[in-house]
Amino acid sequence: MFKTPPRSPLDEDLRARLDARESHALRRQLRPISSGIGPRIVVDGRSILQFCSNDYLGITSHPAVIRAAETALARYGTGAGSARLVVGTSSPHCELEEALAQLKQTEAALALSSGYHANTGVLPALTGPEDMIFSDALNHASIIDGCRLSHAATKIYRHNDVEHLATLLSATGTIRRRVIVTESVFAMDGDLAPLSDLANVAKQYDALLVVDEAHATGVFGSHGGGLVQELELGAHVDVQIGTLSKAIGALGGYVAGSQTLIDTLINEARTFIYTTALPPSVAASATAAIQVITQEPERREQLWQNTRFLRKALDAAGYHINPGNSPILPVMIGDAAQTVALSNALFTHGVLVSAIRPPTVPTGTARLRVTPMATHTENDLEQAVDAFIAAGHDTDYL
Ligand SMILES: *Cc1c(COP(=O)(O)O)cnc(C)c1O
Repeated sequence: MFKTPPRSPLDEDLRARLDARESHALRRQLRPISSGIGPRIVVDGRSILQFCSNDYLGITSHPAVIRAAETALARYGTGAGSARLVVGTSSPHCELEEALAQLKQTEAALALSSGYHANTGVLPALTGPEDMIFSDALNHASIIDGCRLSHAATKIYRHNDVEHLATLLSATGTIRRRVIVTESVFAMDGDLAPLSDLANVAKQYDALLVVDEAHATGVFGSHGGGLVQELELGAHVDVQIGTLSKAIGALGGYVAGSQTLIDTLINEARTFIYTTALPPSVAASATAAIQVITQEPERREQLWQNTRFLRKALDAAGYHINPGNSPILPVMIGDAAQTVALSNALFTHGVLVSAIRPPTVPTGTARLRVTPMATHTENDLEQAVDAFIAAGHDTDYL
């Protein structure tokens, strides 16, 4: 048995910070689940209907994807053994990169350890103090950190405001390189970037366009290639970034673009060079997932159908959902404490939807981020709507 150690000054300080978070309904806690990710999960021995994963297509439990991982696990073992440039590149990594380049219709692609690594690797590799980055105000934390690590001057343009972006671009003097960076589907708001307009402005001001397709890959595009593919803008986007952890259902990140870009990243992206390669089994499952995404478009269709149903039903129930055209349905609440109360009430009614609070989103815009899966049944969706109505009444929100 361990004895409880006496409280140190550090613990006292940290405790005060945690208490301050608690009093503002901003304290976060882990919730272990004892099942795989699916429409239903097991929490504390209870079966719960969940609407907050990014496994949009139900890929994490797809038999062919699991089989591919098992086969690679038996053949290659549990870990890659080293970084990619040392002895960590195996056939599954190369096959994955070929599949990614094909999916994104680019010359080449590179797999990294996560989407976070991709954003924090690419921006510093492409820019330095003599360059300028133009970043959307609602870009993901990994893009913000990539901007910081690059040491480039960073200008923040108002969310999806192309005119504001053009104003900022026109006010720059002699700069070596201008880079515009945006998400294509905004992770917490579910709206889409005006990619065609961004491509035009990029061309007008001779700027590079970097697009993070984390939530678009597998969901948009005729073959699931993303929003860039759907809008046929591949020729106008210099760098496509994404993750293997959302619709692809595994772990890892990727960069897709020209062969020269990829060769440069292999030589210069610190988050690629100085970290251990993905386990080969993870790479193999991602490759199998890409195959499913390409060959089973009915999953995408079902996801969209479920999305339309939920948006309409929650709206009719009296909730305000941020306008947008993606499977991310942000039910806007505003106050963090109210959002937590609704999330807890939903849980009591057997439905898990996490409360998204500052600093993930701006203060006063806390929300319940609802993400349907292709594998939710009509019954699941109806149960969720009933739970939303009951939770709204329980907490005097509705
Ligand atoms: C999730 C996400 C990432 C990070 O991807 P991981 O693979 O989970 O590290 C990057 N960008 C955006 C827009 C995301 O939503």
